[in-house]
Amino acid sequence: METLTVKTVLDWLNEIAPFETAESYDNVGLLVGSPNAAVQRILVALDVTPGVLDEAEKHDAQLIVTHHPLMFRGTKRILAEDYEGNLICRMIRDNISMIAAHTNLDQSPLYSGSAALAKGLKLQNIRQDGFMFVGELPDAPVRADVLRQRIAACEQDQVYQYGSDDALITTLGICGGAYDEGFEQARSMGAQAYLTGEVRHHNALAAAGSGFVMFQGGHFGTEGPLVPLLAEALQNALNALKYDVVVYPSKCRPYGGQMAF
Ligand SMILES: [Zn+2]
Repeated sequence: METLTVKTVLDWLNEIAPFETAESYDNVGLLVGSPNAAVQRILVALDVTPGVLDEAEKHDAQLIVTHHPLMFRGTKRILAEDYEGNLICRMIRDNISMIAAHTNLDQSPLYSGSAALAKGLKLQNIRQDGFMFVGELPDAPVRADVLRQRIAACEQDQVYQYGSDDALITTLGICGGAYDEGFEQARSMGAQAYLTGEVRHHNALAAAGSGFVMFQGGHFGTEGPLVPLLAEALQNALNALKYDVVVYPSKCRPYGGQMAF
């Protein structure tokens, strides 16, 4: 049986979410390690955190695939005493490679955080414009407060609602992560409500004040659902290529605790 290398995983990710489609400010692709490193165990996570590295060490993983990059801004030094420097030092010490698929993955109709949430919420007739996903609720119309609880269950996280409980929602816009200014785009695509990770006060006021509903699902909450989805797809792809590899979805919540899946 052929040995899997980091490069094969890189090539697969490039197929499902071409790295060249990432935003110019982004930092994606192989960020730590070597394309020629042999891989038997892979961990998929939203971020590299100390908890995720504990998990990688527990599984003896040689590769971590994340959504969020490290070294996002021009890194001049890597020091074990700094938060991020320490993560990079640990990966190098443990012979772990790291690949990030960030804004290129955000546009994937199948594996982005938005796509994972749309799937979890069983949205129908999904339209996508760049990072924005819009679709109809299967049992529309749904009260805003009922939809908020449904989103919270899907995310396994708390969701904050801006707008009235009894607003009736037929169409929901979704953009995982930090894109609260996207509510106007969601509305123009026919949505009565919009779910994103982080909502600033001025956008919450503008949305709720005009009869629109905004849901703040948290950055991890809105993008975390892509982790098991991407891990499963990568496992299936590597199985089809007949590699003997295990892909683990990270269960580590960045602020403490474990995900249930
Ligand atoms: Zn994000």
